[in-house]
Amino acid sequence: MTSQPELLLERVFGHRAFRGEQGEIVRHVAAGHDALVLMPTGGGKSLCYQLPALLREGTAIVVSPLIALMQDQVDALCQLGVRAACLNSTLDAAQAQAVERQLLEGGLDLLYVAPERLLTPRFLSLMDRARLALFAIDEAHCVSQWGHDFRPEYRELTVLHERWPDVPRIALTATADPPTQREIAERLQLEDARRFVTSFDRPNIRYTVVQKDNAKRQLLDFVQGHPGQAGIVYCLSRRKVEETAEYLAGHGIDAVPYHAGMEAPLRAANQRRFLRGDGVVVVATIAFGMGIDKPDVRFVAHVDLPKSIEGYYQETGRAGRDGEPSDAWMCYGLGDLVLLRQMIEQSESGPERKRLEHRKLDALVGYCESMRCRRQVLLGNFGETYPGACGNCDNCLSPPEAWDATEAARMALSCVYRTGQRFGAAHLIDVLRGSDSERVRQFGHDRLSVHGVGTGLDARTWRGVFRQLVAHGLLEVDAEGHGGLHLTGASRSVLRGEQPVMLRRVVVQRERAARGRAG
Ligand code: ADP
Ligand code: ZN
Repeated sequence: MTSQPELLLERVFGHRAFRGEQGEIVRHVAAGHDALVLMPTGGGKSLCYQLPALLREGTAIVVSPLIALMQDQVDALCQLGVRAACLNSTLDAAQAQAVERQLLEGGLDLLYVAPERLLTPRFLSLMDRARLALFAIDEAHCVSQWGHDFRPEYRELTVLHERWPDVPRIALTATADPPTQREIAERLQLEDARRFVTSFDRPNIRYTVVQKDNAKRQLLDFVQGHPGQAGIVYCLSRRKVEETAEYLAGHGIDAVPYHAGMEAPLRAANQRRFLRGDGVVVVATIAFGMGIDKPDVRFVAHVDLPKSIEGYYQETGRAGRDGEPSDAWMCYGLGDLVLLRQMIEQSESGPERKRLEHRKLDALVGYCESMRCRRQVLLGNFGETYPGACGNCDNCLSPPEAWDATEAARMALSCVYRTGQRFGAAHLIDVLRGSDSERVRQFGHDRLSVHGVGTGLDARTWRGVFRQLVAHGLLEVDAEGHGGLHLTGASRSVLRGEQPVMLRRVVVQRERAARGRAG
């Protein structure tokens, strides 16, 4: 005989079987126990509270910070015949009252609320008079002050446990490195909740990182390798979004921009085109994507470095939700690193927060520079050990070559030192390569002993050297100013020739080679 959960899964949601631990989670919560669910984006978290909501008497209260997406979720549920509604600032007073009435009359299976609404005395007393099936706390990482979506109101959600100790709670998130996991459990008083941790591996996604050389051209080559396929291109700034979308469109790609500074109707229209159209490429800031449920996104490209490895993982996770082969491609250079370091330094954050953000960036840079299997590095950041090499990332498919860059590193570091530790990589490379440009002569750098010592390497290789020296902590970017580089404590032993430096060899047009997917 089929058990109740399976029956409802098929009847209501039309799914034949649970995915991964869904079944376990549903039974656990339906039986009245607390749960902390860590599951990657697209893993099927919603079902973990929607089904128990139907199995238990009363209304499930779903706390979600994403007001824009609540209505979509509610519409989808209503279409399945589930009695769902939401309460947020987009409703007028009469609409809100109607929803409240439904709640009190027991006419709702699920009610989605924004946290600030939930915490009002009015809503709390309303819940006192309603029959509650469970509390679902979606995007639970918002409770973490160090996460990228911190919501102070999430800290106050402990009131749910204090006021309704018998109502089971399920907290869900897709962002969960071990420290964030601990913080969620602690802040939401879920230490005793059972934890369900799904592997964060997305085996169908192929990870590739290329050195930035001519980013637009490199992007175009990459996108042209996916003809007629839907994809997302992430940029850091609105201006870059506009420029990049225009550039792609000018080269025959069906590309549209998306960022928070656009007129709302146009933005919505572009999103619709992307969701409904075939093979539309959306160029966006990270404002785009939260909760976007398009299964056949074939690639996610980053032309700018994201701010953290968690962010990178979430953004790339929007590719290939249907399980079909997909690409996560990133184009990265020293300029990205310089820019992000400066953004952190110049932000309003306190020193502790800045240190943390630098560390997060370091982890991502470590991923970019790694010569190991990318999947191992990525999952390692979530506390997961991936056995062996994955065979589906650039480093596995065409193992990078290391070269002995000890001499080059010494030249680069002494060039930094001799020029007074305040110039950026472009100028330093000019000096090393013996340029007699106006600027080089103006500073008298043509008379330095390091002038022209580096003609044996081309400019591209030198850019790779400087980038990796920064990534490995042998050079540092100035906090203010314009990308000036200075020595670090670690530089000294290299300068003295006491420490060998092995660097990754730059492979030109790696992406062309990696693109030809078998089958
Ligand atoms: P998440 O919230 O973890 O990002 P969702 O709950 O939105 O993921 O689910 C992602 C997709 O997977 C949705 O399209 C959903 O319908 C589908 N899905 C979830 N569970 C199952 C299942 N057991 N069988 C088939 N499809 C499922
Ligand atoms: Zn690999």
